[in-house]
Amino acid sequence: MFVHPAFLNFVVKRKEKHMKLSTIAVHTGVNKDSAYNSVITPIYQTSTFRFEDIGTTKGYDYTRSGNPTRRALEESIAALEGGADASVVATGMGAVTTTLTLFKTGDHIVCTDDCYGGTERLLRTYAEHFGLRVSHVNMRDLAAVRACVTPATRALWIETPSNPLLNVVDIQALSDIAHEHGALSIVDNTFLSPVNQRPFDFGADLIVHSTTKYLNGHSDVVGGAVVSRTPELAEKVKYLSNALGITAAPFDCWLTLRGIKTLIPRMKEHEHNARKVAEYLAVHPLVARVFYPGLAAHPDHALALKQQKGFGGMVSFELKGGREAVNTVLRSTTLFALAESLGGIESLIEHPASMSHASMDPALREKVGLNDRVIRLSVGIEDADDLIADLDAALRSAATQ
Ligand SMILES: *Cc1c(COP(=O)(O)O)cnc(C)c1O
Repeated sequence: MFVHPAFLNFVVKRKEKHMKLSTIAVHTGVNKDSAYNSVITPIYQTSTFRFEDIGTTKGYDYTRSGNPTRRALEESIAALEGGADASVVATGMGAVTTTLTLFKTGDHIVCTDDCYGGTERLLRTYAEHFGLRVSHVNMRDLAAVRACVTPATRALWIETPSNPLLNVVDIQALSDIAHEHGALSIVDNTFLSPVNQRPFDFGADLIVHSTTKYLNGHSDVVGGAVVSRTPELAEKVKYLSNALGITAAPFDCWLTLRGIKTLIPRMKEHEHNARKVAEYLAVHPLVARVFYPGLAAHPDHALALKQQKGFGGMVSFELKGGREAVNTVLRSTTLFALAESLGGIESLIEHPASMSHASMDPALREKVGLNDRVIRLSVGIEDADDLIADLDAALRSAATQ
C-alpha cells in the first residue's frame, strides 16, 4: 500500500516518546517552516501544491489528501494519545463517520447504551441504509456485553465517562472482550482528553475525538480526529478520511493546534472548578443526584480512580421538582450560557433531553435513565466561587416558584 512520505518521517523520527504531556503539547507540531524558520506552524491556506517534477512532490499534492498545517495537528494529537498516527477531520462526527466506514454490511458493533446522541443517530442510519448491525448495551455489565457478542462482531464502541450521565466503564476489560473475539476496541475520548485518560494504555485500538471540545478548548472551531494504535490501522483511516472527503481545513487545524498548547493547564482549571461545583450541588436540597466520577459517592468512583488521571470538567445533576423548575434554572444562570457543546473555557449549561440528546431514540433515552430533569454543565475556567454563586442564584429562583 502507498505510504505517504510525511507519514513515514513521523513514525521514524518520533522523539516525544520520552517527553511528558505538557512538553508534547507545546513542542509537537511546531518548527515546520524551513523557508523562514517561523516557530509557529504557518496556515498553509492552499488547495494544491506545485510538483517538483513529474511524479515528484515535496510530500503534498492536494489539501484534501494532505496539508502541512493539518499534518502538524495530526502529529500533535497522535503524540498526546501515544498512537502510531492520527487523521484530523472536519468534525467529531466526521471522526465517527470515518471510523464506522471501516466496517461492512453485516458487521456487528456493540455500542455503549448511553453514547453521544449523534453517534447513536449515525449508527442507526448506517444500520438502516447499509445493513450494519448494532447492539446497545450497558457496558458496566460485562456479562451483558459478552452475551451481545456474535461471530459477526467487529468492534466495541466505548465512551467513558458517558454523556451526559458520566457513567464510567472498564476500558481494559472491554478491550479484552473485543480482542478475544478478534474485534476492535474503539474509545471516544472526547470527555476526558488525553490529559485525563490514555485509552491505548488499556488496550484500545482506535481513539475518536471531537476536537471541538477540550482539545481546541475555545469554542471557536469544530473538528475531529481518529488516532490509531498501529500504522496499519492508521493507513486505513487516512485512506478513508481522504476518500470520504471530510479532512479538516488548514485554518481550523491551526486554531486547534494553538488551543492544544494550553490543554494541560486548562484541564487542571476545568477539573478544579468542576469538583467545587459538584461538591456544592451534592448537598443542595433541590438537587436529587449529582453525576461526577470525582465524587466518592459516584458508583464508578473506584474505577475512575484506577483508569483516569483526572475527572474532567463535566458535571450533570438531576433536579427535584418538575420541568418548570428545570426551565427556571436553565433560564436563570448568567455566567453559564444556555448552549450545547462543551469543553470550552467558558461555562455552559444545557438540557440533554431537549438539546444534545434530542436526536436519541426516546426509548433508549428512557432505558439509560436520562430523564428530563437532568441538567448538564460544562464547567469553564472562570473563578469557581463566581460560578457557584451563579448556580446558587438560579437554584434559589427555582426553589421560590
Ligand atoms: C461533541 C461530541 C461528538 C461529536 O463531535 P462534533 O465535533 O460535534 O461533530 C462526538 N462524541 C462526543 C463524546 C462528543 O461530545
